[in-house]
Amino acid sequence: MSKPELLSMTKEELEAFFGALGEPSYRAAQMFPLLHRGDDPADMTCFSKPLRAKIAEAAAWHLPQVEKKLVSQIDGTVKYLFSLADGNCVESVVMKYKYGNTVCISSQVGCRMGCKFCASTIGGRVRDLTPGELLGQVIAAGRDSGERIGGIVLMGIGEPLDNYANVVKFLHLVNSPDGLNIGYRHISLSTCGLVPKIYDLQKEDLPITLSISLHAPDDETRSAIMPVNRSYGIRELLAACRSYFATTGRRISFEYTLIAGKNDSPEQAKKLARALNSGLRTRTDTMPIHVNLIPVNEVKETGFRQSDRAAVKKFAAILEENGVRATVRRTLGSDINASCGQLRRANAEGRI
Ligand code: SAH
Repeated sequence: MSKPELLSMTKEELEAFFGALGEPSYRAAQMFPLLHRGDDPADMTCFSKPLRAKIAEAAAWHLPQVEKKLVSQIDGTVKYLFSLADGNCVESVVMKYKYGNTVCISSQVGCRMGCKFCASTIGGRVRDLTPGELLGQVIAAGRDSGERIGGIVLMGIGEPLDNYANVVKFLHLVNSPDGLNIGYRHISLSTCGLVPKIYDLQKEDLPITLSISLHAPDDETRSAIMPVNRSYGIRELLAACRSYFATTGRRISFEYTLIAGKNDSPEQAKKLARALNSGLRTRTDTMPIHVNLIPVNEVKETGFRQSDRAAVKKFAAILEENGVRATVRRTLGSDINASCGQLRRANAEGRI
């Protein structure tokens, strides 16, 4: 059996761990903040050498290691290819905004959702990340970049709601006042739309921001590019979003990647506004609706092309005319393959 991972443990679990070693529980309070700033337990001099040896015998510790690092010359975005204890790799990105730094982390090694435009899903899902590996990406990215990380987006490789329990545990860990203490309001979780899990998340009472990868205005178009839509259609998805907003009061944003000739026509813009307005708003409530329009990142294997600028502008204008706020997402790190899964694939194929 594999050893329990120190970075995945809550303070209470760490207390139990020390208890089992015959140590007092205050050891957990000593170790927890050190772990969360990235210290190696082997170097924690507040513990005697024999105790450090006992810890190493009983538990595993590993921080993601930088395998590759690309720094955008355009905007300073830093993309990491991290290796995990078993040699698998994931990607994380540090994005610099005026108001602080945000790290985008991966939730799984690979992905099984099968979205047709996405590089992360090409080789399928290899495994879920543990809470400690999710946290480890935030710690390692902060340490290596030397930047204070103020926000997190779960928008890297993988579907976070397909790794539900580990992701929820991670959210608690990273919010811990004795750890990184990152506020839930500074955390966004992006999902392709696993509807039952959206209802589960709503019950967790965590005021994080939900981001929905919608990418199409109707079921036919969406099912053709996102297989998950065959299980949970747009109406069901929007009903879950309404419910999430009604319970948590947290706004939801919608991601819409524009693909030339697939989902970017003026008619599709009108249809999208209609679907969002009717699916999310009643006459009495005015849920704010925000759509992020993202020109698709062209991935070699998918053959999809970006919509031209005029089509993007027109699409945004039609949404706005119909009461839906739309912004065209600034693509950060466009010179460094910063979109999900592209770096891991390039590495696996020996292209970098
Ligand atoms: N599985 C989650 C989170 C990971 S993907 C989700 O689906 O939301 C993060 C975002 O990048 C999603 O909106 C996804 O649809 C989008 N994305 C994936 N590949 C892309 C590409 N080639 N171009 C633009 N956006 C892409």
